[in-house]
Amino acid sequence: MNSASNYIPPDSLNLFTVVPKEDCLHEDLLNFQTVTSHLNKDKLEDPCKDCSATHENWMCLLCYDVFCSRYSNSHMVKHNETTGHQIAQSFADGSFWCYSCDSYVYSKNFHALALKFSNIKFPESSGNTIAVQTLAKELQRDD
Ligand SMILES: [Zn+2]
Ligand SMILES: [Zn+2]
Ligand SMILES: [Zn+2]
Repeated sequence: MNSASNYIPPDSLNLFTVVPKEDCLHEDLLNFQTVTSHLNKDKLEDPCKDCSATHENWMCLLCYDVFCSRYSNSHMVKHNETTGHQIAQSFADGSFWCYSCDSYVYSKNFHALALKFSNIKFPESSGNTIAVQTLAKELQRDD
């Protein structure tokens, strides 16, 4: 199986400059199939639900609402505080943040979502496959 093909744009390498936590237990709460189906081109352009900011927003992976980052008005942080929804995806670089782990997170389960994000956001870079293939190999290692 080689679903790691067709990755990944240089900009998304931000995802890997901080090593993501691979054992976030909160991802069990996510329905990855549904999350992935909610992600599309329009979604990436959604404004913050609270303040209409359009820059570097995040999508909550539990309710699919879009909120702004701490560089705008921190509405995703507030969303976490008021709802307890823990995991969000950055529309800036596609990385995943878990508020409960207080860390970037990643696992094989996120792979389809990361891939879809990349294909929507950076369609012209689909030939750059190195980063995610490397990551996929890392994740497949047993020890
Ligand atoms: Zn977590
Ligand atoms: Zn906002
Ligand atoms: Zn939510």
